Order: sequence, then structure tokens, then C-alpha cells
Amino acid sequence: MTFGEKQTDPTTPMHWRGDMQADYFYPSGLAGEKFFRHLMQMDNFLATRCSTCEKVLFPPRLYCEDCFTEITDNDWREVPAAGTVKLFTVATRNAHSEKMEQPKIVALIDIERTDGAMLGIIKSQDLNKDYCGAKVRAILSPREKREGTLKDILYWEVI
Ligand SMILES: [Zn+2]
Repeated sequence: MTFGEKQTDPTTPMHWRGDMQADYFYPSGLAGEKFFRHLMQMDNFLATRCSTCEKVLFPPRLYCEDCFTEITDNDWREVPAAGTVKLFTVATRNAHSEKMEQPKIVALIDIERTDGAMLGIIKSQDLNKDYCGAKVRAILSPREKREGTLKDILYWEVI
């Protein structure tokens, strides 16, 4: 079946094989843009603090995800580019299911002084270690090479 053919029997499967061009532009939003502009100039992160429930949102948001309070310009905070490993796994295959030469330690990191977390790659040769609870810090690319994307965080290292 192709795009041009009409489906007349609802019991037949609706699929077709082929290639379809799909280009995406995914903006990071107002809060995300402020976060990444800050990251291009500084060696720490930005978070937002809800004035009602005091939750510190990371990644920063314009509204509290718990109580929907609007975040004002005064609610932005600098927080360290550091955190604690909440959980992790050792990835041996890439997104295309191909075996990688060097396995990667992918971790969910609770960001210091916030109630939020982010994913990161821990750079370590020790794949058998339990990283849960380990203190880590982000290693950022040199300021002059930063692009204002997540790629500015090169990796995380255990402190
Ligand atoms: Zn709140």
C-alpha cells in the first residue's frame, strides 16, 4: 500500500514500506533557552524554585509542575553542575542495537540543591562498580566551544 491507495477493508493491516523524509526542529522552550544560554557562559546549571511549594525544578521550568505556580525572574537559581547517581546501567549497544567497542555507563543523576535529575554518561573504566550514591560532577566542553546544547556536557566524572 502507498500513500495514494485508499484503505477500504478495515481488517487488512495498514502499513507500507519505504522511506519518508522527516526533519524536525525541536525548540527547547523559553526556560530551556535560558538554561542553555547560561550554560554557554558559566560552569554551573540554572534551576527554578517554586515560591509556593519551594520545590526546586530541574531542568528549570516556567510553571511549577506540582502546584502550577508561575515562576518569576526572581525564582531562578544557580546550582552546581554536580549531583548524586540515583541509578545507572552499563550500555553495551548503541541506539541502532550495534555492539559498541567501549560500553557506556548511563546514569540518572540527582542534581545537587534541586528536586530534579538528568541523564548523563559517567566516564570510567570500571564497569563492575556500583555507582549508586556516587557523587559526580559534569565535565563541560571549553567555553569557547560550547553550542548551547546538551552536548556541552561532555561526560560526568566521579568526584
Ligand atoms: Zn510549586
